[in-house]
Amino acid sequence: MRVILLGSGSYSGTPKALCNCENCTRARKFPQYRRTRFSMYIPKIKALIDPSPDLYYHLRHLNEKVENVFITHPHFDHIAGLPELQVFKEVTFYSHEKTLHVAKLLQETFLGEREWRYTPLDFNRWYGFGNFRVKHFPVVHQPGEVAGGFILEIGEKKIAITGDTGPEILKDERVLQDIQGADLLVSEMTHKHSIPKTHLGVEDAIKLAQMVGANKTLFVHISHSNYTHEELEEKVREAGIVGRDFMHLKI
Ligand SMILES: [Zn+2]
Ligand SMILES: [Zn+2]
Ligand SMILES: [Zn+2]
Repeated sequence: MRVILLGSGSYSGTPKALCNCENCTRARKFPQYRRTRFSMYIPKIKALIDPSPDLYYHLRHLNEKVENVFITHPHFDHIAGLPELQVFKEVTFYSHEKTLHVAKLLQETFLGEREWRYTPLDFNRWYGFGNFRVKHFPVVHQPGEVAGGFILEIGEKKIAITGDTGPEILKDERVLQDIQGADLLVSEMTHKHSIPKTHLGVEDAIKLAQMVGANKTLFVHISHSNYTHEELEEKVREAGIVGRDFMHLKI
């Protein structure tokens, strides 16, 4: 099965406007170092994870139909591209009801009436939808706000996506057990160092990968202020793959 990482970056993207750090400077010169905001696509179930603000650009390159949309949480960099889905007639959104509320608001504000479906998912419950099963699990990301990851079972394959999460995930026995031995773990690795209740740093993202023991781990949501791509590759070594925009993975 194929998975396509559309965007490997965090909220500001790389390069970030007016920033002259090493990553931003390099990304301006060499397109392979650019990181658009996080999003991924699973062709087998025509699923998009997180409609990033770069969705127009992503869809332009991808040129495939989107039918199922999973939204990890309602932060700008994970949901703001939603109106770009206007080219698709039949879309079903899956997330926690609070996140879906924001999704619906974006649809109504920018597109008006649509025959789109919104399917609320309670946390920590399995749901079956024909050719896939999904579980939405809560993570600690921003106090008082709802945020979660997904476990998707598609045929024989299991894909776990952390979404944005603080290092608290390393102590969440329930989640760790649920995502154990996934075929693919997509873990955020935003900063050099973890920020409690906010984001994972490099060391903790590697730790998570080792605890989960997935067949493949992909590190994503990488900030411009993180290490350079080569330094990250050096650091994660056997633990996983450092994401790049439009990277194709076989699982
Ligand atoms: Zn984010
Ligand atoms: Zn920068
Ligand atoms: Zn976030």
